[in-house]
This record gives sequence, structure tokens and C-alpha cells, in this order.
Amino acid sequence: MRLRYIPPRMPGTTSQSAGRSLLACEGMSKAEIESILDAAEKYRAMIDRREQSDLLRGKTVVNAFFEHSTRTRTSFEMAAKRLGAMAVNFDPGLSSTAKGETLADTVRTLDAMGVDSMVVRHASGGSAAFVARHVRATVVNAGDGRHEHPTQALLDAMTIRRALGTVEKKRVAIVGDVLHSRVARSNVHTLRALGAEVVLVGPRSMAPTDLKSAISSKIFNDLREGIAGADVIMTLRIQLERHARAQFPGGGEYARLFGITPARLEWAKKDGKVLVMHPGPCNRGVEVSREMLNDERCLMLEQVANGVAVRMAVLARACGAEQ
Ligand code: ASP
Repeated sequence: MRLRYIPPRMPGTTSQSAGRSLLACEGMSKAEIESILDAAEKYRAMIDRREQSDLLRGKTVVNAFFEHSTRTRTSFEMAAKRLGAMAVNFDPGLSSTAKGETLADTVRTLDAMGVDSMVVRHASGGSAAFVARHVRATVVNAGDGRHEHPTQALLDAMTIRRALGTVEKKRVAIVGDVLHSRVARSNVHTLRALGAEVVLVGPRSMAPTDLKSAISSKIFNDLREGIAGADVIMTLRIQLERHARAQFPGGGEYARLFGITPARLEWAKKDGKVLVMHPGPCNRGVEVSREMLNDERCLMLEQVANGVAVRMAVLARACGAEQ
């Protein structure tokens, strides 16, 4: 199903105007982002101590995922449960969606059951904003097509902040399939709001057309050139499911030109002090070499841990609870 694309700056995009929904990072202020990250720090400490709280007792959070997910759905579920909310996973494969029910009717039906916040993932850009117009619950965008994935960018910002002390003035090279990546879009907006310098690196066929002005056209097609001086290399999965036709010769060729290896980190900094991130799931040996995945400079699992903390902060806000 294709939905009409809804530009991100519509009313309801930010928490203030949409009753604490989180639909996109574009337009979020530095203060708003930092308040979520500060709350997430507190929740990260709670997770590390394996503590739970009653903050969201009596609240209901529905995970409405119309597209596949491992970490995001589990992470939202754990976040909701750790705060004491009732977390319900809606499975479109077993629902009337499979019988042809429209997205609007499906989410209205769920909403009528008494939902405080709905976490939505869908293959169409603009779907989270679309859902927000049809339900009373607040809506958290868990990835809408190639548009945005706000909690991923927030957890990435948290990971950088924890590792480097700040995001401000850090050079972040986002490497890979930027064109098809919602992770890249949310990160460009979030990192820039926090004062980072962002550059995009990847094959010409995967270069974005819509982000040029947002990043002042810093787009590189050569890895060595693009990652020079980077403090952080944020790799992206090749989004094969969103490619209408082949965009590059194959995984081997991609790895040769754009794969991140420990040796290549010296292209960024002579001393190799560079952080490597990947949102997962990762094509092992393609975007990042196997050796790099086992290197302590690779923060993939740290990103996952911070993901639960960020989602706790976002759900607490979405349910109107104090943080
Ligand atoms: N898990 C992220 C997303 O859903 C990244 C990816 O799938 O490549 O966008």
C-alpha cells in the first residue's frame, strides 16, 4: 500500500504540537533533544542495575509494526515494561490487515481499546504522521519508509555523547546507502541540531537528493576522502528491500570500496581513534568487516543498550509521565 507522502514540517511533527508524539527529528530543537538524552541517561543507569519502575503503571503502549524488526520492537517492548506499562504487540500478519483492512481503520480499532501511546513502524514515508491524525493516542515513529527513524538517531546521539562527552563540533561521517536510509535522515537532523559536523559518504547511486541543503552539500563518493578527520563513522545497512534495481555490483565490490576495516580507520585519524557505529541489522563483512565488528571501537551493542534507555525516555514523555 502506498500512502501520500506527508512533509515532516506539518503541524504535529514535534512533541509540543502533537501532545508529546515523536514523529520526526527534523525540526526538533537542541533543548528538546537534550532533555530526552538526559532522561535516557537516568534510565540507562536503571537498566544497568536491572531496576524497574512504576512510572507508567496503568498506561498502555501498543507496538504496531507493519514492517519487520528485531531490535526496535523488542527494545520498545522492554522499555515500556521496565517502566511498568502494559505493552501489547500487534501482529499485522495475524490481523485483519491481511484481510485488506486499511491502515486508518486498523489503528482506529486499536486506539478504541484504550491506548496511551502507539509505536508505529510502516514501509511508507509519512505513515506515522498519518496514524497520528487518526488516533487519540500519542504516536511514536519507529521507522516510516525511508523518511525517519527518530529513536535510532536519539540513541545514536546518546552513544556518541557517552563515548566522546559531547556531540558538538564532532565530525560524523555517515557512510553507505544514504538515499534509502531513514536512519541517515534522522541522524542528519539530530546531529546537526546538536552542533556536529555531518558528512555523507557512499556510492553515487546511493547519494541523497533531499539532504544536500541540510548538510551544505558535503557528500563524498570516495571513502578515504569522506572519512578524513572523522571522529565517528556511522555505517548504514544496504537497504536491498528498497532498491527497485541493483545500485552496485555486489557485496564484495561494496566492501572493497566502502567497507569499514580497522586499517581504514587510519584514513580518518592517524592514531585510529575513531568510533564505528551501525544501526543493525548488519551485513557482516560488507558494510563493516568481521574484524571491525569485534573491535572495541565498534559500538554496535552499546547502541542497542542505549536504545532501550532512549525509548524509555520517549515513552515516558509520550504517556505524559514525569521524567
Ligand atoms: N534497523 C534500522 C531501520 O529499521 C536500520 C536498518 O534496517 O538498516 O531502519
